[in-house]
Amino acid sequence: MRLQIFEYQCEASGHSFRAPELPIDVYGEFLLRNETDAAMVYLNAIADPTYKEVDMLLQRHPSLAGVPPNRRADILRRIYGAVACDLDSEGRPFRIGQHPKCPVCSSANVRSWQEVQPVEFVDLDIPAATHSIWTALTEDQKADRVNSALS
Ligand SMILES: [Zn+2]
Repeated sequence: MRLQIFEYQCEASGHSFRAPELPIDVYGEFLLRNETDAAMVYLNAIADPTYKEVDMLLQRHPSLAGVPPNRRADILRRIYGAVACDLDSEGRPFRIGQHPKCPVCSSANVRSWQEVQPVEFVDLDIPAATHSIWTALTEDQKADRVNSALS
């Protein structure tokens, strides 16, 4: 798949580094990283029914009653990977919005990121996110999993 190169600055020390992300004009698709940035998976949130499924559980969740839709969408992006996606080969969760790790100081917090100019693209094979654990759960277990992620 086609990814775009972005230039990042780490929060800790301002080190500059480049890493791929989905192109800036892509809508409804996500690249999920794990916290060590050792693996990435791809999610088409419009085509993949599990995204809507977790969203519905959030919509019905009593603790989120009255929470505006854009705030709920933030929560969905934050918890979705750990709730509905299988872990990486080392047992770590993937997360939407997880930034790449600084190659100098290993910080996973970034101060800023922007498109490299002139724009640069790279073709990479990124596996699709899988949901074998999530899809094997009962409805009650799914709700429990969302509850734990919210607490
Ligand atoms: Zn750094």
